[in-house]
Amino acid sequence: IFNNVEHLPPDALFDIKKRLSQDTRPVKVDLGIGAYRDNSGKPWVLPSVRSAESQLQKDPNFNHEYLPIAGLPSFTTGAAKTIFGDDYDSTRVISVQSISGTGALHIAAKFIEKILPGRIVYLSNPTWPNHKAIFEGQRLTTAQYPYWNASTKSLQLDGFLDTVKTAPEGSIFVLHACAHNPTGLDPSKDQWAQILDKMVEKNHIVLFDSAYQGFATGDLDRDAYAVRLGLTKLQKVAPVFVCQSFAKNVGMYGERVGCFHLVIPDQSVEINASVKASLSSQLAKIVRSEVSNPPAYGAKIVSTILNTPELNKQWHADMVTMSSRINSMRHQLRDHLVELGTPGNWDHIVGQCGMFSFTALTPEMVQRLEQNHAVYMVSSGRASIAGLNEGNVLYVAKAIDEVVRH
Ligand code: PMP
Repeated sequence: IFNNVEHLPPDALFDIKKRLSQDTRPVKVDLGIGAYRDNSGKPWVLPSVRSAESQLQKDPNFNHEYLPIAGLPSFTTGAAKTIFGDDYDSTRVISVQSISGTGALHIAAKFIEKILPGRIVYLSNPTWPNHKAIFEGQRLTTAQYPYWNASTKSLQLDGFLDTVKTAPEGSIFVLHACAHNPTGLDPSKDQWAQILDKMVEKNHIVLFDSAYQGFATGDLDRDAYAVRLGLTKLQKVAPVFVCQSFAKNVGMYGERVGCFHLVIPDQSVEINASVKASLSSQLAKIVRSEVSNPPAYGAKIVSTILNTPELNKQWHADMVTMSSRINSMRHQLRDHLVELGTPGNWDHIVGQCGMFSFTALTPEMVQRLEQNHAVYMVSSGRASIAGLNEGNVLYVAKAIDEVVRH
């Protein structure tokens, strides 16, 4: 019965990890997966997380009971405030805890398939590869909008806006809230306004994917700029979806802490309340059949951080620690390449933001980096800058210099 089942290729990103762990060379550099590392190349448990964990362990009421279907209320409310701001209009927002950002996207996909069937889901070109897999996995049709202009290493705004204009009315546009993966390139404030105005004209539904809040500028509020602007511009016409991950900005990758928010269009108080109740029941049904109820431990830690003023303050400081170390690595890498006289212009490395740099190295160069220098990154040339540190940045610059000159 299974003899003819197709054997699929391994996941590109997780396969890098496997090859790297099997590599016996003494010096190896992992610029693959987007996970923060400290200056010694180690995973970092944020001080805010350590404090919240010890606080939880001391709590005599701590237990491992099931959470409600929609998740831990103190977490989902805190998560909504983190992305929408303290004064968000809770009468129009439904927040449901999810299995990190991926799970939030999965809830969105199931919801769209059930409630908004037939709508095309537009993804940026390029984007995080799992986007396509998640939406198509729910039998939704995906299409692309232009985003990255490889020759200018900048936003292809005209092409992007053209696609927004020509897409069927009421399509779904997945927008990276900040720190675009893989390009590290975000629209400027003015470009965001143009993009969102065009969405309004066509009654499109925007889905903000927020997986890196805090990594673009180091400031969690500033990084919510596009989402908050989107809510203001879109609120009368269309719902807005937000898929929020706490994997990276709380450094709890494996605990799978996330939230799906559905903002309903603003109508009268009575209609808002009734629509909210119906949609909440639909979302509860999706979650119940998928995971029954979400995992508790990570949500309790993040909730403690979000709802304890000193820990929240510490978290904001932790965010600055992470983003400024990454930023310093961007500058060191660019400066070393300039000093080495490596052919090409490397300023884009410092112009980009977030965890990644879209280096513009070709797949052949990336392969050579791995084979000759044990420097690992994805074939698109995306490098996770968080994998650089004082001890390996010059080594990586020299390796890049060698493959570029080859
Ligand atoms: N969206 C984007 C753009 C991402 O890069 C990621 C993580 N790589 C996610 C969502 C979701 O990640 P997670 O499920 O680990 O929260």
